[in-house]
Amino acid sequence: MSAQLLDGKAVADKVKQSLASRVAELQARTGRRPGLAVVLVGHHPASEVYVRNKGREAEKAGMLSETRRLDADSTTEKLLAEIAELNRRDDIHGILVQLPLPAAIDKERVIETIAPAKDVDGFHPVNVGNLVLNRPGFVPCTPAGVMALLAHYKVELAGSEAVVVGRSDIVGKPMALLLLRQHATVTICHSRSRDLETITRRADVLIAAIGRPAFITDEHVKPGAAVVDVGINPVATAGEALDYFAGMPERLAEFERKGSALVGDVHPSRVRAVAGFLSPVPGGVGPLTIAFLLRNALTAFERTLA
Ligand code: NDP
Repeated sequence: MSAQLLDGKAVADKVKQSLASRVAELQARTGRRPGLAVVLVGHHPASEVYVRNKGREAEKAGMLSETRRLDADSTTEKLLAEIAELNRRDDIHGILVQLPLPAAIDKERVIETIAPAKDVDGFHPVNVGNLVLNRPGFVPCTPAGVMALLAHYKVELAGSEAVVVGRSDIVGKPMALLLLRQHATVTICHSRSRDLETITRRADVLIAAIGRPAFITDEHVKPGAAVVDVGINPVATAGEALDYFAGMPERLAEFERKGSALVGDVHPSRVRAVAGFLSPVPGGVGPLTIAFLLRNALTAFERTLA
């Protein structure tokens, strides 16, 4: 058996197309358009790529996109002042501060300074509370994307056993709340969970958000389960590539060509042999994260028109 792939890129493309037509329609009607500001502190290489992609995708959707760059040694106060200015601007509806921030910056104060109505990442305590209480707010983009992927492929959630491995504020916790909202029976696992395999093997829906390459193997997965891989990790060696991509000649060829590749938190070749559905890395959750960021920016804009 080989799992059906959950094609996040295709779902994201559909979401982005419908966003772009809505933006065009609103602009024709109101003369205004959504504005998204992304703030990057320092030069974290992966963050540079993410920020560039977010700006490019916002522009493609017809939005105003603004990127603010601050030096790595900027103070918390300097960053708070930038956010305060963006909070006041009428043409900026969404503000995102790219994480991780340099260690010297007070992340909590930064998140709390973003106006909840412009907090398109959904990390502000007000939006976290709204999520817990099932009230309108902003839902973090990655878990929102995972839900869209599961919905697109009609993966049954109501009454099913869902296991989320990872309890971060940005992925694991909101993911569990969204699954609960759809009436799944939800278990959250983390680094202190005892006998992880026994728990994950109960899952009809298994979400991996761990940050460890190929950590979830066939031994963690119930045959036929839907497995969503949130992780993004570099493949370090040719030996790892041979292991992760056994029986996947295109992935192996990619590694040989580029000398690098990405792998998720799920072991791709071993898990696809047992799972019913599997989201690939790349091309699974990643593209949906950006699509749902844009959707949140559009929602923030629409709320100013109401
Ligand atoms: P964090 O490091 O914040 O959280 C990782 C979680 O995994 C923690 O809760 C940790 O437990 C748990 N964990 C670590 N080791 C184990 C273990 N051995 N067994 C069980 N649980 C374990 O990561 P994030 O949530 O921010 O990200 C997770 C992954 O998703 C990363 O690979 C990241 O790159 C990727 N990511 C992808 C995105 C996308 O768009 N596709 C967006 C955001 C993240 P504990 O709490 O006990 O330490």
